[in-house]
Amino acid sequence: MENTLPPHVIIMPSPGMGHLIPIIEFAKRFILAHGFSATLIIPTETKSPFQALKLVLDCLPSAINTILLPPVDLSDLPNDVVTQIVATVNRSLPSFSDSIRTITSTHRVVSLVVDVFCTNAIHIGTTGNPFHINGYIFRASSALFLSLVYHSSKLDQVNSCDFRDVSDPIQIPGCVSIRGKTENYANFLEWWKELNLGRGIFALNGKQWDNPPVYVIGPLIRTAWLDNQPPGSVPFVSFGSGGTLSSEQLTELALGLEMSEQKFLWFLRRPEKAAGASYLRIQDVEDPSKVLPKGFLDRTRKSGLVISKWAPQIEILNHPSTGGFLTHCGWNSILESIVHGVPLIAWPLFAEQMMTSVLLTDDVKVALRPKPMKGGVIGHDEICKLLKGLMEGEEGKRLRSKVRELKCVATSTLAEGGSSFKTLADAVNAWKSY
Ligand code: UDP
Repeated sequence: MENTLPPHVIIMPSPGMGHLIPIIEFAKRFILAHGFSATLIIPTETKSPFQALKLVLDCLPSAINTILLPPVDLSDLPNDVVTQIVATVNRSLPSFSDSIRTITSTHRVVSLVVDVFCTNAIHIGTTGNPFHINGYIFRASSALFLSLVYHSSKLDQVNSCDFRDVSDPIQIPGCVSIRGKTENYANFLEWWKELNLGRGIFALNGKQWDNPPVYVIGPLIRTAWLDNQPPGSVPFVSFGSGGTLSSEQLTELALGLEMSEQKFLWFLRRPEKAAGASYLRIQDVEDPSKVLPKGFLDRTRKSGLVISKWAPQIEILNHPSTGGFLTHCGWNSILESIVHGVPLIAWPLFAEQMMTSVLLTDDVKVALRPKPMKGGVIGHDEICKLLKGLMEGEEGKRLRSKVRELKCVATSTLAEGGSSFKTLADAVNAWKSY
């Protein structure tokens, strides 16, 4: 392919908004600052892409093309999010390969960047295949998580049992210690093998290792716009793109918000038994009054706003009226909050969110963590207490000042000449010569 064509990068996100949004922000950065073009090849499992996906894709810059791969059938699989994500990717590999063939015939493809759930696509795009493209892995998670995965094989030898059975906190090199009560231990060793498949890893926050190199290029978030609200007065409540609460928990949360007498803005999702049930299929709540306690909407009409559709989270976090964020600890949400200097209530639901909540409360100290009652439900009085503490109390002031320090660090990291800016420039300059 002629060297006069602009360098082109093929990107494969995994299904789900939480992994799509940061990889798009990553693409925008090397396109705008380095003159590349890119194609996003997105695996799908339902025929019509949902509203949120369309909203995000409609706003892409013209240098990013999109290919939605033909939907795959998952009807034979259990309703487990990770199983469904991985199967969607793996069953899409033949059509992914066809798309790569077409793109490489017309573009100067210098690199393939795949989401961490798409590592099997690296075999297609890289060495040992007809395309010979350099493959990189994109991982939108904390340094703590990456470090745990990285050191999992050594930790496994030391502990010789599942992390959840280790009584002392686990020492993770360079990071805060965590208790072993974390999900997916069995996957960590597998994940580390897979991370080694790429020529490098792009991480939003992390440490530098020898092999493969980790390029720390975060935090990546969408730009923001403002609404009008009174300054610093509104806690924002959201459990990410698809985090869900049980019916009982939803009721406690509503009652806690009401009892706290704080203003609030709440992204409501339909109650479900499993915490990540809506991750792949986000559904709007048609009539919020049907899932909320009787009379709640009327009683809080003046103080609160419930939004039951996909809405612009970053704009809300960037708004001067937003004074706190009750979050499920999804990594994008955390970065978005820190970049806008908003202190947190850490309410983890699934995946590595538990680990992230430890990082936020015990290490960087920008969050309060609710204590559940027996049976795991967080009661309305606990929610009320934390909301008041965050919005009005001394603790809230301390967290706010700490998160503002982190905001300054994040801003300088991303600015021209900052460490993330430079690291991304180094990586993409190497691609230009391929
Ligand atoms: N988000 C949004 N509007 C919504 C819900 C979520 O813009 O109504 C965005 C949010 O800003 C973040 C992403 O969706 O960028 C969610 O990612 P996160 O890692 O926080 O959680 P996940 O959805 O992966 O559990």
